[in-house]
Amino acid sequence: MKTILIIDDDDYCRRPAAILLARDGWNVLEAEDGERGMELALAHRPEVILCDLMMPRGNGFHVCRMVRGQAELAQTKLVVMSGSDYEADRQGAKEAGADAYLLKPIDFADLREVVRHPAIARVGEAGPVAEAPVESAVEPLAAGPGELGTKVKFWGVRGSIPTPGPSTVFFGGNTACVELRVDGELIILDAGSGIRPLGQALAQEFGARPMNITVLVTHTHWDHIQGFPFFLPAYNARNHVRILGYEGARDGLAATLAGQMESPYFPIALKQMPGNILIEELKDMAFQIGPARVEACFVNHPGICVGYRIFSDSGSVVYLPDNESFNEHTASAHGGELPRTIEEKLAEFVLDADVLITDAQYTAEEYKSHVGWGHGCVDDVVRFAIAARVKRLFLFHHDPEHDDRAISSMLMHARDMATAAGSSIRIDAAREGEQFTLAPHAVAARL
Ligand SMILES: [Zn+2]
Ligand SMILES: [Zn+2]
Repeated sequence: MKTILIIDDDDYCRRPAAILLARDGWNVLEAEDGERGMELALAHRPEVILCDLMMPRGNGFHVCRMVRGQAELAQTKLVVMSGSDYEADRQGAKEAGADAYLLKPIDFADLREVVRHPAIARVGEAGPVAEAPVESAVEPLAAGPGELGTKVKFWGVRGSIPTPGPSTVFFGGNTACVELRVDGELIILDAGSGIRPLGQALAQEFGARPMNITVLVTHTHWDHIQGFPFFLPAYNARNHVRILGYEGARDGLAATLAGQMESPYFPIALKQMPGNILIEELKDMAFQIGPARVEACFVNHPGICVGYRIFSDSGSVVYLPDNESFNEHTASAHGGELPRTIEEKLAEFVLDADVLITDAQYTAEEYKSHVGWGHGCVDDVVRFAIAARVKRLFLFHHDPEHDDRAISSMLMHARDMATAAGSSIRIDAAREGEQFTLAPHAVAARL
């Protein structure tokens, strides 16, 4: 009997496929994450591996590279199945070694057809064995200055590329960077060019005191990491700077972050920065940073990209800087059906958040010519936030083409939509330098 291994964290897709293939006479093995999938692959050497892309403990690109690095799996047919319709992800899966790519929701006739044919012989093609995954040990840092409550400050709100100048002076031109102080714990969301002025402010605030900083990276598109080489605290040996994020589609987090600082792009290598930089690749989708509980969720954006939800006694803040909302345009690519895997998980992920900071790059009209670019439109974002019962929404990842006037008019439109829907949601457009505090629930009444 031929063996097929299905690696997918989503029961909704994995279980029906397993039942159908078992009926067709396959010996079916199932795994819920990349690590378990690789264990089963090596132990059972299946004829076919069906593999999701966005999974905890080893994404699908990583699994494909691992499989293709094993000589004993040279005959295994590797089929990626994903809710992502981005060309970059199809290409990335192919380069990682996938033989076929199926778009979710899976058409079972297509699945049968794909698994029926044997793999192209790859004897002698096995590449070097991939490195073992880096162990993730997210330990709490020492408490900060001991202040209760969650403070949020925007240092970079722009998408794609820094856009300075008189026409963006109100909302700001720096790329993605948000500072959080959770009961004194210093957490930075993304390292776009906004992290440069943040670093200067921290150096001034802390003076000779050491800093313990955690930077949470959503993904390594340049607008989310380009400021790090200019982050002043990373040049001070008294400080400890920990960078957390997930393995990318093509390379590990550490290699990508180091890559942008290699010669000839930058004069100082990442490993030469004296600020005790520790890069940890996350495996699990929930973890702790000091007093803050953090959850992560994969989003609809080319490559591997996550959003973070940070919980504390003061409530929760969701940061989804890059995400293309699901709507009638994206649905048409999936044959009129939405891939539940990303959409429903994301709705659950955001439900009842106190604050949602999210990608509203385009107007509805602009979005029509940017379908598949991986970014949201303001109308979809407002509908999504209202349905998820979010209390406060910040439009984020402003388009470099939008001046202050354009962003203001998008904000007015968003507020009009909320009023028309009878919603009490508070909506703002994220603005560089703006800050607010979520008071701890227990003492909120006193403040
Ligand atoms: Zn971005
Ligand atoms: Zn991006």
